[in-house]
Amino acid sequence: MEYPGNLFVVSAPSGTGKSSLVKALLELDSHLQVSVSHTTRSPRGQEQHGREYWFTAMEEFQSMIARGDFFEYAEVHGNFYGTSRQAIEERIKGGEDVVLEIDWQGALQIKKIFPTAILIFILPPSYEELLQRLNRRGEDSADVIEVRMQNARIEVAQAQHFDFVVINALFETALFDLKAIVHAQRLKYAAQRRNKSTVFQALNLV
Ligand code: 5GP
Repeated sequence: MEYPGNLFVVSAPSGTGKSSLVKALLELDSHLQVSVSHTTRSPRGQEQHGREYWFTAMEEFQSMIARGDFFEYAEVHGNFYGTSRQAIEERIKGGEDVVLEIDWQGALQIKKIFPTAILIFILPPSYEELLQRLNRRGEDSADVIEVRMQNARIEVAQAQHFDFVVINALFETALFDLKAIVHAQRLKYAAQRRNKSTVFQALNLV
């Protein structure tokens, strides 16, 4: 599958700052769109159906799996999450760049069916710092934080399978790195030929 749009897949252990980084990236780059996933978990706080997630009952989620509606899906922290095929394919075929914020299992599934996807792993600077961030966030109980820290070690070990690694020690530096990755994809020959066709024609480049 060679589509004109780029598919960026961002994964990170919980508490690394992935959501804040992706949010800042989207605010800076109007050509990037985020794909809203389906999940069987309940909404938290101010979350809205169709904005953070499509909140979906387990039965419906299973029907979607059976129909082959998902590009990928995975069980994460006891709930199911999935990316709908339609949401991504239409946009990338239309030349849009799409960002997926999903767990490592989903990212590796995407890479198998869509090898041109760009996989980005965000690492915390250390486990000590990750623990401090999870505690500071104040969202989770001590038990949940302990499980997240155990999972973090398994997740971090997957970074080796990703194309790019961004270390979120300083937010602004990590954001700069993310922007650089997105920008570099847009400078690839095929992308430049598509987007700068007049220049290419003037230079007799095919
Ligand atoms: P949360 O419940 O905190 O919003 O998300 C839990 C985890 O599920 C995060 O690592 C998040 O990136 C991941 N996630 C969210 N949407 C998807 C999805 O569509 N597919 C997969 N595989 N993981 C997802």
